[in-house]
Amino acid sequence: MRLSIKNLIKDKPIGSEVEINGWLKSQRKNKNFSFIILNDGSTQDDVQVIADSTLGNYEDFSKIGTGGSLGIKGKVVESQGKQDFEIQATEVIVYGDVSENYPLQKKGTSMEFLREVAHFRPRTNTFGAVFRIRHALAQATHRFFDEKGYFYINTPIISAMDAEGAGELFRVSTLDAANPPMENGKVDFSKDYFGKETFLCVTGQLEAEAFACGMGGVYTFGPTFRSENSNTPRHLAEFWMIEPEVAFADLDDVASLGAEYIQYMIKYAMEKCPKELEFLNKFIDKGLLEKLNSVKDTPFKKITYTEAVDILQKSGQKFEYKVEWGADLQTEHERFLTDKHFNGPVIVTDYPKEIKAFYMKQNPDGKTVRAMDILVPGVGEIIGGSQREENYDKLVARMEELDLELDLYRWFLDLRLNGTVPHSGFGLGFERAVMYITGMSNIRDVIPFHRTPGHVEF
Ligand code: ATP
Ligand code: MN
Repeated sequence: MRLSIKNLIKDKPIGSEVEINGWLKSQRKNKNFSFIILNDGSTQDDVQVIADSTLGNYEDFSKIGTGGSLGIKGKVVESQGKQDFEIQATEVIVYGDVSENYPLQKKGTSMEFLREVAHFRPRTNTFGAVFRIRHALAQATHRFFDEKGYFYINTPIISAMDAEGAGELFRVSTLDAANPPMENGKVDFSKDYFGKETFLCVTGQLEAEAFACGMGGVYTFGPTFRSENSNTPRHLAEFWMIEPEVAFADLDDVASLGAEYIQYMIKYAMEKCPKELEFLNKFIDKGLLEKLNSVKDTPFKKITYTEAVDILQKSGQKFEYKVEWGADLQTEHERFLTDKHFNGPVIVTDYPKEIKAFYMKQNPDGKTVRAMDILVPGVGEIIGGSQREENYDKLVARMEELDLELDLYRWFLDLRLNGTVPHSGFGLGFERAVMYITGMSNIRDVIPFHRTPGHVEF
């Protein structure tokens, strides 16, 4: 079993014999020996190996280029250089050289270029850092909700409902696309696999509500699909969402929960991945550590949508989209609030009902709903949530206004007729959180293999 470089660095067993494996970062040779810099992806740090020219296969391994894979057996010794130790090789095993076309030979390859060779991104310092942090944030998520006594549930990926009502759905069908069964000039989905139209889920919220209204507090963490045709640096067609849903909780409760969760993730990443954050702070986003340090224990600002509109209108700032009460906040507006006005995360509550989903609790003013978005600098919206309408009549009235097919939502409505309770929840876009905490500026660079309009390589 391999010894990871991470554990080697942790234990620094000077004097002992070890075996490590990895990919060549660089190799410099002179008459007497070769200096090998090796990384195995377990940690940000590389290990330096000295391999004497007296080793039997010196000719073979000393010509291996950057990206080639090697195994090293040798002794851990104190180092003269800036590293605290190095390995004096007794054996070098060559697993594989690289071809002439190996794309990571050159330094300074751009993020755009790396997306075209996404299968090699895990070998780079930047992506190693991002994906070790992504892993830590996933662990932090489960710990955070588990510590709070919330249960992890898995909601369906195939759904018959457009739960967000935004129509950004991917169809799931086994009908012959070239020759579907027709009925009165329309495709007859009653002949489809499930006997009705089905889609990939845009959220697991409605099903999570059923579990919250029985188990108290639950959360989902799963893939989510939206066919929105938005080629932006913060939208994916396939992304991961964490959705807590809490019974006997109101909007303020889940707004606080959201802020606490984000701060928990930041602290966890700082504890588990200090080297990764240092690296990203140096090469990707110079203000990253300062930002994380200041956000991790500062209470988030909270304003209503109406106050936000007021701030934006009085800002004197020129926006591409006009700020008007009733219109959704655009990225430029969100960014003004977070990056300029508040210089930190902000929770915006009580949006106009027209721009939010049907299930949100209606305020007595008849115009707004108990919604909240958490916006953060550099990214914009990271969390969208609400208190849910638990009153059957009000919910049905809103659904009828929006022409929703009540039959599809029968079970959801049933929850309001049988032991209904106030409850609230939110969705946090996992990749948006990873962007925020790593300082990466394009969402395509924080998911292993991205799906966006026109792109489904790898
Ligand atoms: P946006 O206005 O940014 O499109 P939204 O209002 O459609 O977001 P919600 O429906 O509230 O988003 O979804 C909850 C969270 O899921 C968002 O706050 C965001 O973090 C994330 N999210 C939504 N759409 C996407 C997407 N296409 N790609 C990545 N993350 C997304
Ligand atoms: Mn959207």
